[in-house]
Amino acid sequence: MGGNLGLTEAQKRNLKLKVEFKCQICDGRYDPEVLDIPPIYPVKYGGSDRPHNLIVLCPTCHRKADRGLIPRERLKRAKKKKRKGIESQISDIVSRKDENKKQEPSQEGRGSQKRT
Ligand SMILES: [Zn+2]
Repeated sequence: MGGNLGLTEAQKRNLKLKVEFKCQICDGRYDPEVLDIPPIYPVKYGGSDRPHNLIVLCPTCHRKADRGLIPRERLKRAKKKKRKGIESQISDIVSRKDENKKQEPSQEGRGSQKRT
């Protein structure tokens, strides 16, 4: 046990859903229960438990990453190439505590509105 980084089950499920239940390295599709969400840089080595440091991996790739068989650079790159904006989506999921609370852009009328 351990290493769950304080994410709730719902957050973990959301993260896995975002990557379509695919391992970010081998692109294999797995059952959600099987996928892990380890930090790219291990927390015990000073890594962050923030979303930008998290990646969804299958058990095989997770083990490889743990043993240093997958360069961290590759983990980072795999994460980035997957989908643009996934980091912000992930941080959105992780930081969201109240789903009903939505931030609405407050647009004050500037007096020059045009309609077609
Ligand atoms: Zn994998």
